Amino acid sequence: MLEKKDLDWGNLGFSYMKTDYSYVSTWRDGAWDEGRLTTDHTVTLSECAGILHYCQECFEGLKAYTTKHGDIVCFRPDMNAKRMHDSAERLVMPPFPEDRFVEAVKKVVAANAAWVPPFGSGATLYVRPLMFATGEVIGVKPADEYQFRILVTPVGPYFKGGDKAITITIAQYDRAAPHGTGNIKAGLNYAMSLYPYEEAHKNGYSENLYLDSATRTYVEETGGANVMFVNKNGELIVPQSHTNSILPSITRRSLVTVARDMLGMTVIERPVKFSEVTNGDFVECGLCGTAAVISPVGHIEAEGVHVTFPDGAETSGPVMKKLRKTLTDIQSGEIEGPEGWVCKIC
Ligand SMILES: *Cc1c(COP(=O)(O)O)cnc(C)c1O
Repeated sequence: MLEKKDLDWGNLGFSYMKTDYSYVSTWRDGAWDEGRLTTDHTVTLSECAGILHYCQECFEGLKAYTTKHGDIVCFRPDMNAKRMHDSAERLVMPPFPEDRFVEAVKKVVAANAAWVPPFGSGATLYVRPLMFATGEVIGVKPADEYQFRILVTPVGPYFKGGDKAITITIAQYDRAAPHGTGNIKAGLNYAMSLYPYEEAHKNGYSENLYLDSATRTYVEETGGANVMFVNKNGELIVPQSHTNSILPSITRRSLVTVARDMLGMTVIERPVKFSEVTNGDFVECGLCGTAAVISPVGHIEAEGVHVTFPDGAETSGPVMKKLRKTLTDIQSGEIEGPEGWVCKIC
């Protein structure tokens, strides 16, 4: 029987803690090396490394956890592999092969099995693959050396308030350049979101809702989570972007499948005007992402904007609650989900 680390699993925050192993692979002379586990959790870089100047970096986030049956699993890692491939291409970095990505996730999680929180603790092992330019560049061009790493760290829930609905506001800035860069998971987009995030916090809001940068008419997403609504007919309304500026959340795509195929709901994926939100067309709102699954949004407040979602103003409304329960039951092995969603590691 594996000895687990002696941690207070039920009271972990969402912060970094060093574990035993990380995974590292280097791209040099036009190829990725074979990759390996490492106990060195630091990176030494040239002051001229491409990441430090032109920000060639992208990352992923997924979780490993223990099911009801005692298996250590992760959720749809092939989707993260594909998305990181796409992010890397957009940033002119050599994609890490998708099959090797999944193998590397399994390897580093298995090596850190003692750090995977036990079933029922509410905690998970957060898995963070990242890739960045280590090669030296001074003229503006892609670097010629890269590092792919995966670090893992045990975490508790992302939003502390449990099921308490949050209030969000409207960002006055863009979180990504317009026209198709909001769909990559990259530090450069997060860098752009920090200033509006701090502003929102100062004003007492949990998050920012970003509108499309070209017209400020359509709903995109929040800083780190996709948004979805329920309308008065009980239909799930999922915003789409004309300019491909919404990050393709794996949680959101999984919830769409769950809603349509398992719960028999009507799901409509289409551009959503912010005026529909302010007109009171929607009765529930939720933010979705790996860490939180779905967090209920009770209110949207900004200058001249006061929106309350009547079925979920205080805690999750019935539809968001049912969606979250179904997805988390699939993840924990309570019920059977679509083939291949829960990926066994050890
Ligand atoms: C990671 C991320 C999400 C959530 O994606 P999941 O795959 O569901 O974790 C949503 N929006 C942004 C901007 C993100 O970076």
